[in-house]
Amino acid sequence: MNSQSNKIALKTGAINRRHQRSRKEESEFGKAGKEFIICPECDSVFFDKAWHHRLEEEKNAHLKIDRKIKFELCPACKMARDKLFEGELVISIKNKELSVKNNVLNTVKNSDKQARERDPMDRILRTEEKADGIHVFTSENQLAVRIGKKLKSSFGGSKLQIKHGGEDITRVYIEI
Ligand SMILES: [Zn+2]
Repeated sequence: MNSQSNKIALKTGAINRRHQRSRKEESEFGKAGKEFIICPECDSVFFDKAWHHRLEEEKNAHLKIDRKIKFELCPACKMARDKLFEGELVISIKNKELSVKNNVLNTVKNSDKQARERDPMDRILRTEEKADGIHVFTSENQLAVRIGKKLKSSFGGSKLQIKHGGEDITRVYIEI
């Protein structure tokens, strides 16, 4: 048994020991909204009115003891499933050197990682390569702006355009 499954077994044990509460108590906990929601897709965890990384849940495991645990897709995974987005960044690469494209893709990937570390709901949902460039769809409109600005500062001579459209969608265009 590896250390991960050991940890899970211990945690389950703790929950079971506490599982002798009455039904009334159970429903009162439910009413208080004291529940943990775990996203089965990305493993993010909801508690205290916000989504957290699984790691933060481990640190706050003591809070979990009296709460119900539900499995439900988080808002970002729901957006990805429904092909929704708040930000769209279109990267058009005029410089055809392969290293430029690789650097662009690495910058995009790192920005996604940094955003997720700050907030698990702030992320790139998907990327698509189309005739006019690489389309990057984000769960939060400011992330598309941030990645656009990061690319602009990384690639000299690039042109950036930010358009705040209707429906709360921000579109960012960059030519590198
Ligand atoms: Zn999720």
